[in-house]
Amino acid sequence: MLSTRKKLKALEVGSRIGILGGGQLGRMLALAARQMGYRVHVLEPTPDAPCSQVADKHIVANYDDIASVLKLGKRCDVVTYEFENIDVRSVIALEEAGYPVFPSSQVLKTTQHRILEKQFVQSIGINTAPFYPVNTLVDLEQAASKIGFPAIIKTAYGGYDGKGQVKVTNLEQAQLAFQELLNRPLIWEKMIKFTKELGIICVRDRNNQIVTYPVTENIHVENILDTTLVPAFVSAKVADQATEIARQIAQNLNIVGVFCVEMFLLENDEILVNEIAPRPHNSGHYSIDACLCSQFEQQLRAICNLPLGSPRMLSKTAVMVNILGDHKGDHLSGTTGLLSDTNVCLHLYGKKKAKTKRKMGHFTVLSDDLDEAFEIAQKTRKQLRWIARR
Ligand code: ADP
Ligand code: MG
Repeated sequence: MLSTRKKLKALEVGSRIGILGGGQLGRMLALAARQMGYRVHVLEPTPDAPCSQVADKHIVANYDDIASVLKLGKRCDVVTYEFENIDVRSVIALEEAGYPVFPSSQVLKTTQHRILEKQFVQSIGINTAPFYPVNTLVDLEQAASKIGFPAIIKTAYGGYDGKGQVKVTNLEQAQLAFQELLNRPLIWEKMIKFTKELGIICVRDRNNQIVTYPVTENIHVENILDTTLVPAFVSAKVADQATEIARQIAQNLNIVGVFCVEMFLLENDEILVNEIAPRPHNSGHYSIDACLCSQFEQQLRAICNLPLGSPRMLSKTAVMVNILGDHKGDHLSGTTGLLSDTNVCLHLYGKKKAKTKRKMGHFTVLSDDLDEAFEIAQKTRKQLRWIARR
């Protein structure tokens, strides 16, 4: 057992929350922390990052700068992280110094590495896409014969939003992909023909209380989340199965905090787990406007040792759409039209440059009818355009 310098009781108003990572997830977590009366310190290398704009203090440092990470730990009552690609050694350093940090380094180690993650999922009797670890050209040929084509070759860690992934349909393409992704541990995954991609936000606290949100349908475009529909239009049996998978993962991973399970639904209603994100997730953003307790408040409740909140929805359905940059300009036009529909909620992340495919914001439509929510979302999306500032 590690000794903790700081007591793990329920954190009081004015306590300091430390966040490793200053992107939009950190920002929305910080806003929830503010609402609950907490102070926020963020560690992030980029000045004026989305989270630092709303935090009390910003330590400008790299995620693997252990001295700065320990400074964050010393200044804060509890630390968490907003994405899984931070160096696990930073979380281990916090733990060894006795600073409370959630989720644990063990959880991060498993979930930031696609091979360890899939091995863990299979070890608890849950299916994943067939895969094969690839480090050498010999492995590559083994993977081609054992798993076959079409396949996706991915970096085993460090990827997000489809980065570090190449689709291949023959050995020649696979060899080219191997060159492209060279010198990094890789995973060869069978390309799955899914009928839907599903997601579920789940939270576990230190007393093994588990709360699950509704199952969502997540539509990706070019490997990036585009739209989330809640609840997913699936049978009760599929929804129950997805929920049970999330509960099993929560318990066996021994996680404290919010996480998301991304899944593939097959034609025969079988579910394969694709990924586990050990943090609030893009597909859970709808919960800010559509649920009694958002995934961000829930994360704070879990890490601050408070009772977990209710995931109950305030409308029967919701649709969330990501607003991505397209390099055509940095000013978003059409927001007035969007805001004139009182069932639509807009969130922008304070990023100055709308680079292509950069997540700049999102909006959520609340409705008691999923088709109507989807239709409004499509109409709303058409109104938005990036233009050059006049
Ligand atoms: P990340 O989100 O970390 O970039 P993912 O593994 O979730 O990586 O891949 C992004 C998207 O690419 C998925 O949501 C899915 O749409 C598609 N994808 C990934 N792996 C597979 C697979 N094995 N079969 C089919 N589609 C996949
Ligand atoms: Mg993913």
